[in-house]
Amino acid sequence: MENRLTKREFIKGLAMGLSSVGLLMNSETNIFGDTKKEKTMQNDDLYYIQTVRGRIKPSQLGMTLIHEHILVDFIGADKVSKDRYNPDEVFEVMLPYLKEIKDLGVTGFAECTPMFIGRDAELMARFAQALDMHILTNTGMYKEPYLPKYAFEKTEDELAQMWINEINQGIEGTQIKAGFIKIAVNPGSLIPIQQKIVRSAARTSKATGATIACHTGHGVAVLETLDILKSEGLPLEKFIFVHAGSESDFNYHVKVAEQGAWVEYDGISPGEANRYIQLIKAMLDKGYGDRLLLSQDAGWYNVGDPRGGNIRSFAYIVRDFIPLMEKSGIDKKTIDKLFIENPAKALRIPIVVGQSVNSLGKIKSTWGKIK
Ligand SMILES: [Zn+2]
Repeated sequence: MENRLTKREFIKGLAMGLSSVGLLMNSETNIFGDTKKEKTMQNDDLYYIQTVRGRIKPSQLGMTLIHEHILVDFIGADKVSKDRYNPDEVFEVMLPYLKEIKDLGVTGFAECTPMFIGRDAELMARFAQALDMHILTNTGMYKEPYLPKYAFEKTEDELAQMWINEINQGIEGTQIKAGFIKIAVNPGSLIPIQQKIVRSAARTSKATGATIACHTGHGVAVLETLDILKSEGLPLEKFIFVHAGSESDFNYHVKVAEQGAWVEYDGISPGEANRYIQLIKAMLDKGYGDRLLLSQDAGWYNVGDPRGGNIRSFAYIVRDFIPLMEKSGIDKKTIDKLFIENPAKALRIPIVVGQSVNSLGKIKSTWGKIK
């Protein structure tokens, strides 16, 4: 499985991979290990998922971990650089962790490391190619100290245009495209720079159809964020409340779900299993199973630590947490929805750019061009 290609060989392979990606995924294995024919999802032909190898149909994404990290560098925007790590070493260290979940039936993986915290699109594509996995990378910006100086100087539309280019054309001169928008807000009332980033993300989403995953974890901040998105005319199904489980007041989770946005419990770990089971059941009881996303925020190769430091495996959910969910009375159909259907719906992009498609397949004209 070692894949030590030169850059040129790799790009060539990537181009070939793009044309054959449809052939690779004619069958899917669900989380219980049954191999079944490609599941037909509602309106599957009207949307796509943008992976680092190119477009796939939403039904091809399969069992998905929607919030994980392969590589992170917390050094700060002024010092972050690809020279700070050896990509061959990161590949060698992280490959077994990804292979472990691939062997457990995970086929979809959203890598949530933002720009200026170590996002490396080429490295992600190398993993995707080596493992035949659907890995997504992102565009957008986080918060200080991970913001470049130009984030403060450029206008909302200028930032949005840069991110739109990363979704439509490619990242840093490659043909690898971002599949979603990753941003952050500060806790509490939003400070001006984060308001600007939210507006830029809304305009990027409206222009491309890509979904916004926003590091939040705080109720006041998320409701303010939703208000900005509404004022920009963005359908809230294009927004993911990342780290929702960090907000201890469950009423905020409900307020976000009832407005149509996604609530993401991405801190699932052995120590918090029972708390998350209770939260998931509470959301299901309220009827918000179709607004819920689950993941671990696990990984990662931490740049600066010897061989990436302490890495948390991605396997906990599939190996231990799903059996706990079943034991607690959550049925298999619901579990499939939470790990297969919902991630595909959250990450899907309408093929008709600049327009959205409602659940009946009708084109709505709520999407606009960037102002
Ligand atoms: Zn994260």
